[in-house]
Amino acid sequence: MEVKLISYVPSKPIIEALEAGGLSISPEELLKHLSFTFAISGLSRACTHQLVRHRLASYSQQSQRYVRVERLADEAVEPPSIACRPEADVFFRGFIRASEYIYNKLIGLGVPEEDARFVLPNAAPSNIIVTMTGSALYHFFGLRCCNRAQHEIRELADRMLVLCRRVEPELFRKAGPYCFQKGYCEEGPLSCGRVEEVKAKYERLGYGPDV
Ligand SMILES: Cc1cc2nc3c(=O)[nH]c(=O)nc-3n(C[C@H](O)[C@H](O)[C@H](O)COP(=O)(O)OP(=O)(O)OC[C@H]3O[C@@H](n4cnc5c(N)ncnc54)[C@H](O)[C@@H]3O)c2cc1C
Repeated sequence: MEVKLISYVPSKPIIEALEAGGLSISPEELLKHLSFTFAISGLSRACTHQLVRHRLASYSQQSQRYVRVERLADEAVEPPSIACRPEADVFFRGFIRASEYIYNKLIGLGVPEEDARFVLPNAAPSNIIVTMTGSALYHFFGLRCCNRAQHEIRELADRMLVLCRRVEPELFRKAGPYCFQKGYCEEGPLSCGRVEEVKAKYERLGYGPDV
């Protein structure tokens, strides 16, 4: 997975405009006027499907209808839980190769890409551009940095949070999973039970010497 922050609205001109207008400058006011655009590549279709459930965002995703999928066997996204089990890894790789073979065969038989893609797996990689406001990102991080979120979208959320903290360190200091934002976990019996460890992680994430 590769995640780049390709464009954003910085807080400085917003603060100046709010000050000039004699308007209140709270973090909440600022966050709703800031927007961040990320270019994400090498994300599985399983993960982009979860991402686009977040409605308060704009998306542009690579088409499987018009763009032929190439190099599936090399670029399929393999979950670590499969990669670390040799026998599971063999099954996974075999299935991906078979999927790629049949996909190409169908296209060779004249089936259009938009229909041949029905044999592609959730592991197929995709590229997507996403734009969210600062407020929408806080909500996204609240849900997707959580240990209960699936590992791939959690990694994506962590990377996006680091990029936001690099450009707006103070505004995103309180962003992270909801247990970090609120100080407690709301998941009840479904809690990961590691709230203190999670809070310690998000106190530090992105504020290292590389920032
Ligand atoms: C751990 C986890 C497990 C999940 N499991 C499942 C699952 O099994 N099945 C499944 O289908 N989904 C599942 N989801 C997806 C989940 O149901 C949401 O679709 C997704 O997290 C987006 O959240 P959201 O709607 O709050 O965000 P957004 O769509 O970004 O919306 C943000 C907020 O804006 C408001 N809002 C947005 N649109 C509207 C609207 N039209 N009307 C009223 N208010 C609106 C709501 O307050 C909403 O919380 C899961 C998510 C997580 C994090």
